Amino acid sequence: MNRAGRFAPSPTGPLHLGSLRTALVAWLAARSQGGRFLLRFEDLDPRRSRSEYEAIQISDLRALGIDWDAAPVRQSQRSALYARAVERLRAEGRVYPCFCSRAEIREAASAPHGELPEGAYPGTCATLAPAQAWRRAEVGERHALRLRAEGEHVVWRDRLLGERRGSVDDFVLVRSDGVFAYQLAVVVDDAAQGIGEVVRGADLADSTARQILLQRLLALPTPGYAHVPLVLGPLGQRLAKRDGGATLASRGEPPGVTLAWLAHSLGLAQDAECVASASALVANFDLDRIPGHSVKLC
Ligand code: GLU
Repeated sequence: MNRAGRFAPSPTGPLHLGSLRTALVAWLAARSQGGRFLLRFEDLDPRRSRSEYEAIQISDLRALGIDWDAAPVRQSQRSALYARAVERLRAEGRVYPCFCSRAEIREAASAPHGELPEGAYPGTCATLAPAQAWRRAEVGERHALRLRAEGEHVVWRDRLLGERRGSVDDFVLVRSDGVFAYQLAVVVDDAAQGIGEVVRGADLADSTARQILLQRLLALPTPGYAHVPLVLGPLGQRLAKRDGGATLASRGEPPGVTLAWLAHSLGLAQDAECVASASALVANFDLDRIPGHSVKLC
């Protein structure tokens, strides 16, 4: 099977310029290799995901000439796959219920704890006797399910960021409201969809160690990773979907003009005024040559 590339937005707002730029890079990386490209909606959070946003995201991607080879997949329809993965991890003793409240987690995570990154869960519930803990969970005490990561350390090579490493904490697999966590779903889906290289925003680089550990524990292949530097707002701030700014609609210009800005920011076009479609950029694209720094909107 020809390995695929993908773009996996959460439908929680219109795509901002940073997400559109990442989508463009992911699409160009796949198409310049003659590869397939897939769209996946990461709509696991029912409170924040909306089908109207999916429709806007699809229409904005299309306006730039980004296309995909199969009907978009929605994570909200794939719970059975995620449940199976959790069962498998549980059978290997790698899952435990966690009864900590948010406040307890915040407090515990702010204390220093060895090699784990700041904010990591320090494993408070990992030491509970398993039989008793599972009994509490089964009788309905509110709990999340966490991975027993055993402090494993992961080293990998990111195609754009170089060598990276990270210690994995006991992160959440299933939230206390029953929603499967992004880290689990993304790993199951990237494998199920045959993704050869994950191209996504640099804000997710720190999630990669967790995902590689999960792939190992679930005996799934590890794809390549390329984390694309972010687009920052005029004051150097991160763009957020919820801010609603810096979108195709808010720019109020023909999509070809926005595409020209994106292409220019990637070193793929001189100051072009308009690039008709993403396909015009395929011939000159080389993932290894995109700028390694974030770009600022002016
Ligand atoms: N759903 C994530 C987002 O919208 C992207 C996840 C990924 O590409 O792995 O930021």
